[in-house]
Amino acid sequence: MENKPEEPIAPENPIFTAIALGDLVEFKNILAQHKGNVDFFDENGMTALQHAAYKGSKEMVQLLLDRGADVISGKHEYNYTALHFGALSGNSEVCKLLLDAGAKPITTNSVGRTASQMAAFVGNHHTVATINNYVPLSEISFYSVPQGQQTEPYLPPFLVEPLHKFVLCVNIHPVRLGLNLQHTPALLDNADKVSNVLEMLCKREMTRGSETNEVMSFKYHYLAYVIREINNIRDKQKPIGDKEDKKHDIVEMFAKKLLKPGKDGVSLDLMDSFLKDCVREFPYRECTTFHQMVSSLTSKDPPPALSVINCTINGQRGFVDAIPYCSTCGEEKPAKKCSKCKSVQYCDRECQRLHWFVHKKACNRELSVPVITSNSKPTVDTAELTSELQNLVAG
Ligand SMILES: [Zn+2]
Ligand SMILES: [Zn+2]
Repeated sequence: MENKPEEPIAPENPIFTAIALGDLVEFKNILAQHKGNVDFFDENGMTALQHAAYKGSKEMVQLLLDRGADVISGKHEYNYTALHFGALSGNSEVCKLLLDAGAKPITTNSVGRTASQMAAFVGNHHTVATINNYVPLSEISFYSVPQGQQTEPYLPPFLVEPLHKFVLCVNIHPVRLGLNLQHTPALLDNADKVSNVLEMLCKREMTRGSETNEVMSFKYHYLAYVIREINNIRDKQKPIGDKEDKKHDIVEMFAKKLLKPGKDGVSLDLMDSFLKDCVREFPYRECTTFHQMVSSLTSKDPPPALSVINCTINGQRGFVDAIPYCSTCGEEKPAKKCSKCKSVQYCDRECQRLHWFVHKKACNRELSVPVITSNSKPTVDTAELTSELQNLVAG
């Protein structure tokens, strides 16, 4: 970036006001009138892109990136990057845009913190997961080009984007993965190729020398494992000579297997053993990640395997625990409730339908007792957070 022409330094630039006010119309006007470099700096060395990221405005961030805004460099006094500001805003989509534009998750600020650590510090758990689960598209597209003597690549090029999207998923609940696959049937139709590529990615993460990423390696292994399992169900289902199998039913069978309560009526024993097998099959048994998972799973009062895997991939959740989950797929803050008893929540009708075989017993029972429903958010003292953050930034 050394060869860049003089940056337009204009502290009084009205674009900063437009961003602060969230005035998209004015923002677009200013951009339309301005030709050339859009890396405007304010008096603190913060760029317009950084302001827009901090504001959590997906539209403004996108517009600036479209105009070639620099996602890497800046003159912020504490070396915050646009990604740091996006992480603080808690808008995961903003972070995704910045990452797609080449933002580096490993860049630290002047107090040695990465963007994901800053997000964790302010309790933006989903943003932490989004950044930590990020993989550049090039990692996947690498396998869509024939290598060496190959006449055909490992991955058909049309699968690059759907697989990339699948890999970036933050909610790794197996039923959610099943539903994602149901929505992208091409991945399931090519399950062998896709799981093979995922296993190669798994190996690649382990053989990067100093940049080895055990967690990502495990995630690839896990995704391959889930795809293979769903594909096995499909193979067993497919009667010979059948023209069109119903992907709908396959995910339903998968969900019914995993969500079926065990003897105590609560714990998901089948889910647990399915996931433990996945850990057991992880080929890199010398690594720390594997050891940590095994010691959790074999501890005296072990947590469910799903939470062990989720912690491994998405990190320990901080102090925010009381978040409602979809009873089917684990998605956070689902939009719907069972209309009868209002005591369980779901993403949508599909999730509700998949869970009904379990819930119908409890639902009828709970009708006789008054149920308190609350959509109140978990209590986080934002004032305290803000002051802690300021201390940190100042320190
Ligand atoms: Zn759901
Ligand atoms: Zn109910």
